[in-house]
Amino acid sequence: MGCGSLLGQTDYKAQREQMVKKQLQARDINDFATLSAMLNVPRHEFVLENLRIRAYSDGPLPIGNGQTISQPYIVAFMTQALHLKSDHRVLEIGTGSGYQAAVLAKIVDSVYTIEIVEDLATSAKKRLKDLGYPNVIVKFGDGYHGLPSKAPFDAIMVTAGADSIPQPLVDQLKVGGRMIIPIGPHHGIRQLVLITKKKNKVLTKSLMPVRFVPFTRNTKIKSY
Ligand code: SAH
Repeated sequence: MGCGSLLGQTDYKAQREQMVKKQLQARDINDFATLSAMLNVPRHEFVLENLRIRAYSDGPLPIGNGQTISQPYIVAFMTQALHLKSDHRVLEIGTGSGYQAAVLAKIVDSVYTIEIVEDLATSAKKRLKDLGYPNVIVKFGDGYHGLPSKAPFDAIMVTAGADSIPQPLVDQLKVGGRMIIPIGPHHGIRQLVLITKKKNKVLTKSLMPVRFVPFTRNTKIKSY
């Protein structure tokens, strides 16, 4: 006993430890809060049941509705780049499975996340409730306009690739706040862009090339 499998059950915790060591620490993830969140969130609960065997592999996975859960390294990289503190209020656009929101929720007090595909929003809401993340609020809607009623945010993360930076999101960032978003042409490689809001200016910096599913718009559904 005690060697990877207990009563025939997969030892997901051991897989997570390996993921953190080999995919994150072996690269450039060293933020303690990020590493500890990735070690604790059960990623296998956020993927399709038949793909659980690959939940901790070094890549993205389909989550249904043509969408994907990002590679663990990208989740960690984007989380680390936001320089989060426990008292922060964070907005995510693109809930998907809810995994990234759960990682954020391990680190900060409150997470708001908006998803444009109703089925995904509904199942992520249920999953996060069942797994016990009371500090995540999931909203169904077009996230382009952010969530003005809860603004300003300490940090904003967009997990879908946009062709340009949505101005309403920049407006909802606190002075001193950070936002991360994949920007670039459709169907291509985009750049993960870090936006830092200063008192009188907004700084942007490209961090690395990435592939993301597209940021879409739907003016027929709710925006906030
Ligand atoms: N963060 C997710 C993965 C995101 S995939 C996770 O951890 O699983 C990108 C998601 O962004 C998709 O679910 C897509 O439907 C959603 N999306 C795209 N455009 C959007 C918009 N304008 N507002 C809200 N969600 C959007």
